Amino acid sequence: MNNRRAMVAGNWKMNKTLTETSELLKAMVTLLSGFSKVDIVVCPPFTNLSLARLETGESEVKVGAQNMHWQEKGAFTGEVSAAMLAEFCDYVILGHSERRVLFAETDETVNKKVHTALEHGLKPIVCVGESLEQNQAGQTAAVVEKQCRESLKDLNAEQAKQVVIAYEPVWAIGTGLAATPEGANEVHRDVIRPVLRELFGAETGDGVRILYGGSVTPDNAADLFGMSDIDGGLIGGASLKAESFVAIVRAANDAR
Ligand code: PEP
Repeated sequence: MNNRRAMVAGNWKMNKTLTETSELLKAMVTLLSGFSKVDIVVCPPFTNLSLARLETGESEVKVGAQNMHWQEKGAFTGEVSAAMLAEFCDYVILGHSERRVLFAETDETVNKKVHTALEHGLKPIVCVGESLEQNQAGQTAAVVEKQCRESLKDLNAEQAKQVVIAYEPVWAIGTGLAATPEGANEVHRDVIRPVLRELFGAETGDGVRILYGGSVTPDNAADLFGMSDIDGGLIGGASLKAESFVAIVRAANDAR
């Protein structure tokens, strides 16, 4: 328990057509009112962002993208810029492990994206997390610390206030094997938070939210969000159904 406002963000990945997006958001928006202690974000694919903005309207549900390019514009076939996203989105997920593993993203490119996103008023949700091999080799703290330092390089404290960190151990994503609440809390409290305090000062560092992601469900959400340093969740699979996403938002609200 702490003073930071909770957040629950849904990463839809490459799921949902326009029709499905409309149906899901209509159901969610009705059910997601009145959770006054949680920032709620949905991150559909690029093609659905405009519709998502229309469907969420003036509701408490905000829209985020799942990626972007760091350049302003130009010959980057297939890419989308921050200025394009800023017309529909408040947030953008950057450095998700699927982008790092499948699309060769590095801390360096994530860092460029974080800077560009902030210049356009987008709040970055920066993902960090160790692989199974790194976890088993006892490298979690070193890997996560390096990802945080390099992804957040050259930000000032004012910019850091707009950033959200998502700790997502790669072995927990989409596997049904969530980290234990104590294990995730330890990484948040003893690895990520000290880096934030060192980089941005104690006050700003303490204010940055650190979400947990990796097989969060309605069954484990309350235990995770009840931990001292877990400020909410980045949700994959369970964000694709209104019922499970709403139950997770409720757990975050009740934990505050
Ligand atoms: C994710 O992809 O960010 C994620 C946490 O997925 P899941 O909840 O399905 O593990």
